This record gives sequence, structure tokens and C-alpha cells, in this order.
Amino acid sequence: MKNTMGNGILVYCEFEGGQPRKTAYELLGKAAQLGLGPVSALVVGGGDTSSLAAWGAAQVFVVDHPVLGSYSTGAYTKAISAGIAASGAAYVIAAASAGGRDALPRVAARNGHGLVVECTDLRNEGGQLVGRRPVYAGKALVDARTSSAVGLFTVRPNSFVLAQPPAAAGAVVSVDAGLSGADVDVKVVQTLAPASKSVDLTEADRIVSGGRSLKSKEAYDSVVRPLAAALGATAGASRAAVDAGYAGHSEQVGQTGKVVSPSLYIALGISGAIQHLAGMRTSRVIVAVNKDPEAPIFQYATYGIVGDLFEVAPALQAELARLK
Ligand SMILES: Cc1cc2nc3c(=O)[nH]c(=O)nc-3n(C[C@H](O)[C@H](O)[C@H](O)COP(=O)(O)OP(=O)(O)OC[C@H]3O[C@@H](n4cnc5c(N)ncnc54)[C@H](O)[C@@H]3O)c2cc1C
Repeated sequence: MKNTMGNGILVYCEFEGGQPRKTAYELLGKAAQLGLGPVSALVVGGGDTSSLAAWGAAQVFVVDHPVLGSYSTGAYTKAISAGIAASGAAYVIAAASAGGRDALPRVAARNGHGLVVECTDLRNEGGQLVGRRPVYAGKALVDARTSSAVGLFTVRPNSFVLAQPPAAAGAVVSVDAGLSGADVDVKVVQTLAPASKSVDLTEADRIVSGGRSLKSKEAYDSVVRPLAAALGATAGASRAAVDAGYAGHSEQVGQTGKVVSPSLYIALGISGAIQHLAGMRTSRVIVAVNKDPEAPIFQYATYGIVGDLFEVAPALQAELARLK
């Protein structure tokens, strides 16, 4: 049983380009529904916090310092730890993003907080926060809770539909984490913009992925990317397609690639190997296009189309164009 000393939920809101990421709103909306006390926001490194009150944040704890300009594990761990202590929250929820996955385990270890990672759902059970998370490459789901005074939970992006709660006061509280240059353990030498302007795979609401069956980079570029663009989706790929050079490493979905949970995942000519499924089976709607009616992916697909992707994908694209 959790030895709760704090009160309410603190949402660690990540920012990009000075604005909250979509995951911040997803988590604030969900936190308000949980009924576990007041919801506050934690912002590390500053940015435009004005929208957080409209999304139900009673207080906005801001830890800002010049060393927080770029992500570094040491400085962010210290800043998040200070924000949690200042908030007095019983629970902290954060996105299972690159930053959340890196910092939260360290925050937990440093402060003795319990941690539940990679949740795809959260619920209030008798006043305790319970996180549901996939295990064994998504073959089973477990419910996990913490027994420490403060419980940390990371949640996969797109796990919750955006639902704006009633606005709250949003009083800004500045937190001094005692940061200095000594807390920065890495030096950022260069920041490279992603080649594609589309939403990052892990946060994308729609994904169109292609597999080995594309047979060439030219085919991937002329079939997968245009369909993704027509749907406002991000392009992804199986490892076989990435290894063959059809798509970039950052586009790989799966156990050794990115774990995604979009509203819509379209798999074009992907067999559905367990390592690929591990990265996408929590997608809300899965559409599989495969020539082989026995392909394993059909066992997980919401909609299955037995057919040649080189015919089905252009037909889908033409239909989308007709509907616009
Ligand atoms: C340790 C480890 C980690 C791995 N990590 C990952 C990972 O992160 N991500 C990942 O994806 N894989 C990963 N793999 C590889 C994985 O096991 C599979 O080999 C890979 O996912 C297969 O990719 P694929 O489905 O594109 O190719 P295939 O398995 O070759 O499947 C191609 C499919 O396309 C269909 N097809 C062929 N032509 C057409 C057509 N014209 N139209 C429609 N359908 C067609 C076929 O029927 C077949 O089902 C990993 C493997 C290991 C051992």
C-alpha cells in the first residue's frame, strides 16, 4: 500500500520550440480525469507556460537556468527532482519520450521514488494511481503501482485522446534547483534538424510503415511517403526495410527501433514479426496490407486487406485525394 505523503499529480510537461509538446496536454487532460487531487505542471528550462492553466494546471512549477538550454541528463535530473520536491505531489506523470525515458529513472533512483515505465493507461483504484503497461514485447499487460511516498509513471505518447479539462489558476511558482555548470555532464556540439518535417514517429498520431516487400528505396519513396503525406502521417519502416536502406534508422519501428502508439498504423507489406509488433501493437487502429492471407500481422490488425501493396496503396491515395 502506498505511503502517500504528498497530494495531487504533477505532470512533467516537455517543451519544444518554446511551446508545450502535445504529450503535455494529453497528460494534463488525463491527470484531471483521475480525481487524485490537484493537478500541477512542471516545466524545466522555461518557455511559454500560458496555455497550461487552460489545461487544468492549478500551479505551474518552473525550473529555469541557463544550463537547461539543451537537454543534459545531470542538469535535468536535478531540476526535475527539485520541481517534484517543491510541488509536494504524490504522483508524477511524464511522457515516455527520449527525455522522459532518460531522466525519470535517474530521478527515481536518486530520490527513492517508485517508478512505473511505459504505461499505456492510468487509473485511480481506491485513491491509488495504477499504471497499465505492456510486457513480454506486448504479449501481456500488467497493472503496476508504487509503494513509495512519491510515485513516478511514464506514459507512451498518444495513449490518451486529447480532452481539455476545466481551466485552473495556473499560478507560476519559480523553483531554484541550485544548478551550476558542474551539473552539465554532456556538451552539445551540434543540433541537427530531422530530414523530414513530419511529426516525430513516437508522437505521431498516424503512421504509414513499409516493409521489405517494397524492394527498393525508390519504391518506398514513391509508395509509402506519398500515402503518409496524403494522410498527414509520419512514415515508418520495418527493420528489414531499414537494413535494406529503403528508410532511415530513425524511421524503424519495433523492439530495436521506436515504440509507437498512434491512432492509426498502416503496415504495408510487413509480415508482423514479434520484434515489429513490440513497437506498434498498442496502436489504436491497425490496418495491414499483405499479399499473404496467413501473414501474422493479420492477427493483430483491426482491418486487414489481402492484396498487393503496389495496387492498394495508390488506390487508397487516390480515394483520399477524391475525398479532399
Ligand atoms: C534482436 C532482433 C531485433 C529486431 N528488431 C526489429 C525491429 O525493431 N523492428 C522490426 O521491424 N524488425 C525487427 N527485427 C526483425 C524481425 O524479426 C523481422 O525480420 C522484420 O520485422 C521483418 O520485416 P518485414 O515484415 O518488412 O519483412 P518480411 O518478414 O520479409 O515480410 C514481408 C511481408 O511482405 C509481404 N509482401 C511481399 N510482397 C508484397 C506485396 N507486393 N504486397 C503486399 N504484401 C507483400 C509478405 O507476404 C510478407 O508478409 C528484429 C530481429 C531481431 C532478431
